[in-house]
Order: sequence, then C-alpha cells, then structure tokens
Amino acid sequence: MQWIPYGRQQIDESDIRAVVEALRSDWLTTGPKVVEFEERFAARVGAKYAVTVSNGTFALQTAFSTLKLQPGDEVLVPSITFAATANAVVFHGGKPVFVDVSPDTLLIDPDDLKKKISERTRAVIAVDYAGQPCEYDEIRMLCRKNNLPLIADSCHALGAEYHGKPLGSLASMTVFSFHPVKHITTGEGGMITTDDESLYNALKRYRNHGIDADFRSREEQGIWSYDMVEWGSNGRLTDFQAALGISQLSKLDMFVQKRRDIAERYREAFKNNRLITPLAVKNNRKHSYHLFEVCVEDPTKKMTRDALFTALRECGIGVNVHYRPVHLLQFYRERFGTGPGLCPVAEKVAEQILTLPLFPSMTEEMIEKVIGEVNRLTA
Ligand SMILES: *Cc1c(COP(=O)(O)O)cnc(C)c1O
Repeated sequence: MQWIPYGRQQIDESDIRAVVEALRSDWLTTGPKVVEFEERFAARVGAKYAVTVSNGTFALQTAFSTLKLQPGDEVLVPSITFAATANAVVFHGGKPVFVDVSPDTLLIDPDDLKKKISERTRAVIAVDYAGQPCEYDEIRMLCRKNNLPLIADSCHALGAEYHGKPLGSLASMTVFSFHPVKHITTGEGGMITTDDESLYNALKRYRNHGIDADFRSREEQGIWSYDMVEWGSNGRLTDFQAALGISQLSKLDMFVQKRRDIAERYREAFKNNRLITPLAVKNNRKHSYHLFEVCVEDPTKKMTRDALFTALRECGIGVNVHYRPVHLLQFYRERFGTGPGLCPVAEKVAEQILTLPLFPSMTEEMIEKVIGEVNRLTA
C-alpha cells in the first residue's frame, strides 16, 4: 500500500544541478550563494534585509537574541503552535505567556492578547497558523500602543499575503523555515527578514558567534582584527543549501498555487460533510496552505478525531495533528506551572483538529484517495 505523507518536498533536476554546481565552486559554507539567496528572498517578500540561518528554530533564537530578555520578562505566544516558537523565548531566559486562539482559524486571538499584556511583557510573537496570515492590523495596533516589538513566526506562511502584502515585512522581524515539509526547502534552513538595519546587523552577528565582522569582509579589507561584542553562535547555512534555496524560490509561486488548488478541491469535497469542517479563511488575505486543517466533530461521538486518525492511517493516509497546545506540554507544565484552563479554546479545538495530506507533488490519485476515504469514514 502506498503511504501518503502529510507533507513532503518537491525536488527536480534543476535543483540538483544547482546544488552540484555549488559543490564544484570554491565556497562550501556561507559565501556568494547565501548572499544571493538572501537578496532574492528579501525582494520576494518585500523586506529590506534577509538573514539565512541553519534552521527555523535557530532563526527564532536569532530573532529573540535581539530582545535582550531579562529573567521574568514575558513574551506573548499563541498556545497553538510548534513548541519551537515558545522554546526560543525560554532559550533566552524569558517566560512565555500563552494566548488563546480564535476557534474558527486557530490564529492568535487579539482580544485574549490584549488581556494578557502586563508590565513584564517585552514582545509578542504571532504565528500565521497553517499558512493564513494572522490579524496583523489589530496585533500591530496593540503592539504600537504598548510599545512592544512584534515578531512573526511565518514558518507556515511563505507566499501568503495580507491586504495584498506578502508576509515578511509586516512585523519587526519575520521568521521562515526551509524544512522539507515547508513551502520551499534547503534540507534544513531558516531565514529572518527585517526592514531595520540595526536589527539586520545584530542578526548577522548572532549567526556568527557575536563577532562584529565576517570572514569575507575582513578578507576584502585585508585585516585580521575582530572582536566578539556579544553572545552568539554558529547558525550558518552552507552555500550549496543556499543554491538549492535559490532554485526552490524560483518555483515558490507554482508550489503555492498547487497547494491552493488542492485546498480548494478539499473544501469542495467536504462541503456537505457534516462531521468535517475545514478552518475558515478570513477576508483580505491569501492563504499559502502549509497545512490543511479540519475539525472533526461528531455529535453522536461515533467518529472522534482519534478514531478517524487511526482509520485513515490504516488506509495509508498520513494524517497528523498540529498541534497539542504548548501550555499542556509536560516541560511547560513543570517549568512554568501552566496547565488546563489557561487557553480554553485551544484546549477544546486541539481535541478536534486533523491535518490532511497537502503538498505540491500530490497526484490526482492521492487527492482522490484522501477525499474518498475521509468521506467514506465519516458518512
Ligand atoms: C517548522 C516550524 C518551526 C521550526 O523550523 P525548523 O526549520 O524545523 O527548525 C518553527 N515554528 C513553526 C510554526 C514551524 O512550523
């Protein structure tokens, strides 16, 4: 039986040629291909600057390094996200404060966000869950009023748009991931975009051990002198990964279009299914569908989410759950005393959500199979 994963990369001959060419060049680690990838990426998402790093998790850590969090400082984080979003706050010694989500979109709820701002709040991180831009207008207004920087975790949402603007310049810093299940891949890889030059320099420093000038600019200037001015680490991306990133980026529009087409097929196919409700898409934004999420709700309790999960997996359909609320994870309960009751919407919806397979190289046969089995099992 053929296994249909929930997501996977699409690599073609031109990607392979680009990587091989980079391997034959003089640069293996961060070099001209990284610079080219950053320039093309920044242009694509409408940001002034882009900084590549080794993965999306490191990208979050790099962005948070600029906040210089002190013990007790709080950062507002949506409860429905990948653990890495909140972990980046903990990594820099901050305390994540979990914000509930809206039930129809699972995007961070601006009303709950407002309630959870305190004297200790230092920043807000918003997540464009599943590939849908969050409520940037409301969130930006709250941040401006309270003088808080907004960081966007857009790891789900490369290629998405909010009021006609691509995600990448709507927050003070925006973070992307190039893991193989995301919109474009470099194997492992991540990017931070910003319009602020001093943040840009700080991000590049953190990627390079907190050292003020990189090897290439020292080489060009003919000097050896350097200083480590603050804490940093090695988060560099290799040049052959960047070559793959450049090649993949040129196919982003096609990848996103395919994702949208499959999502439309799913919406149409489940229109009359009373047990399955796809998440809502709000006005004035273009979803880029990293994930296709449905809520499974059977009033008779015969077909629960967990039962459907097991039944679909048994027929070779790699459904998944994104995510368990972060405030219910053992580490957070033990370290920060979080637990049930903190974000009631997230807790309830997390029992119902199911991720269906969605990736650009899905064949017609795979799409038909997912639709057929889901409708059969919930008839
Ligand atoms: C994928 C992802 C990350 C982490 O990216 P990696 O490249 O896997 O480290 C962070 N946040 C969210 C929301 C993600 O989906």
